[in-house]
Amino acid sequence: MNIGIIGAGTLGMTLGYRLSQAGHRVTVLETGAQIGGLATWFDYGDFTWDKYYHVILRQDEQLLSLIDDLGISPRMQWKETKTGFLWRGKLVSMSNNWEFLRFPVLSFPDKARLALGILYIQRVNDAGPLERVTAAKWLTRVFGRRVFERIWEPLLLSKYGVLYDRVPAVIMWATIRRYYKTRSKGDGKETLGYLGGGLKTLFEALERGIIEAGGSVETGAAVTEILAGEAPGVAVRVGDEIRWFDRVISTAPSKVLDRLAPETKLGAVSASSAPNYLGVVCLALVLKRPLSPFYVTNLIERGMPFTGVIEVSALTGTDEMEGNHLVMLPRYDEPDSAWFERPESEVATEFLHALRRVIPDIESNVERFFVHRAKHVQALWIKEPPKEQGPRHTADGRIWSVNAEMAGRDTLNNNAIVQVANAAAQAIGAMGAPAKAPTAAASRGR
Ligand SMILES: Cc1cc2nc3c(=O)[nH]c(=O)nc-3n(C[C@H](O)[C@H](O)[C@H](O)COP(=O)(O)OP(=O)(O)OC[C@H]3O[C@@H](n4cnc5c(N)ncnc54)[C@H](O)[C@@H]3O)c2cc1C
Repeated sequence: MNIGIIGAGTLGMTLGYRLSQAGHRVTVLETGAQIGGLATWFDYGDFTWDKYYHVILRQDEQLLSLIDDLGISPRMQWKETKTGFLWRGKLVSMSNNWEFLRFPVLSFPDKARLALGILYIQRVNDAGPLERVTAAKWLTRVFGRRVFERIWEPLLLSKYGVLYDRVPAVIMWATIRRYYKTRSKGDGKETLGYLGGGLKTLFEALERGIIEAGGSVETGAAVTEILAGEAPGVAVRVGDEIRWFDRVISTAPSKVLDRLAPETKLGAVSASSAPNYLGVVCLALVLKRPLSPFYVTNLIERGMPFTGVIEVSALTGTDEMEGNHLVMLPRYDEPDSAWFERPESEVATEFLHALRRVIPDIESNVERFFVHRAKHVQALWIKEPPKEQGPRHTADGRIWSVNAEMAGRDTLNNNAIVQVANAAAQAIGAMGAPAKAPTAAASRGR
């Protein structure tokens, strides 16, 4: 089949690669100037790295198996990393069992309660009841009020902002289970992974795979309309051009598909119980010196404008970055937040001003800074997601919607997205070709 895919993020590119492997001719259409979507790369001056921070976990089986299929697994790197907490203006390490015992934020009985609570959560396999209780209520029940107030409440606030007291427990259940598995059972040390060259390595390999199979990937190609028209083909409008395919698959959020093809009702189906979206405002700092030894520093004190500190080079080392250090300060917020409109210099000034409370000489350490923003980052199902979570399509199977909202309760991660793409590729392949495909001659300019 001749298949058009809207969006060259992890989902669109993985789907394109899988469908190419199955013998279909794929065209991926991407509105942006480069492929990769949220996982794209950025030119930081002396080096190129991911625009946002991305870590790969050992249990990311679907993503690691894709990396393997693409022949780039020799570029996977695994490193022992450290985690810190910002508490009362100080950075405190909690990177192994010994440091956990000395962790000053909690009393000994509270630490026991925290450890037991986390073990208990590993044993909860039926998350169904956790759909109907808020994370705040459930975490208080499992860990007790003090542990909740000192650890979980600030973390919930920093991760979900204004939505924090509406987030269902099931989301925190999935998050805690995902990150617990990064710690070794023996000494509690954490191991995390990344691809040499960043996720650019993954996207270039996916693009190669699609092109070698006879397909193409086009950037600067915004799809503005899907014209279902009469069967068997389906057309999309890209600028002044009309392009014809046997099937068109949108990987954009349902709300976007609603605008592209309102009559299909594919977007509207989910709009009745649409997820809330969180966006991110992220200050990326290229530094001369490291900030801390921690990959992640969790903020358990209030009043910071950003929601965490991610020291990317604490994971990757500085060889990937021409000797520089790279730190990111993200702020997760609702898409209509004023933070998305404020001038970059204002965002940087306010974030750096807050960071100076902890690192007084931060300004003298900054080589360059960049403000990255994306409004639709995490599809957060406050209401229970629809039972039917798989890809949706029109009755005749010509138009499909496959997007990150279908990762359901999973946290924001590429592994879950690859899983959605793999399942969709199977479903689309299983449906087979339309009764009569448009001829090659008819495939342009109709
Ligand atoms: C700050 C941050 C940190 C993260 N950390 C991690 C991490 O540590 N580990 C991890 O595994 N994952 C992480 N992720 C998540 C990961 O980046 C995402 O899950 C993944 O990139 C989502 O891919 P996607 O293809 O579903 O969506 P997107 O990347 O949003 O791709 C959708 C694409 O569709 C394009 N598009 C939309 N409309 C149209 C149109 N009309 N025509 C043409 N193109 C269109 C968009 O331009 C975009 O490129 C992080 C993400 C962010 C933002």
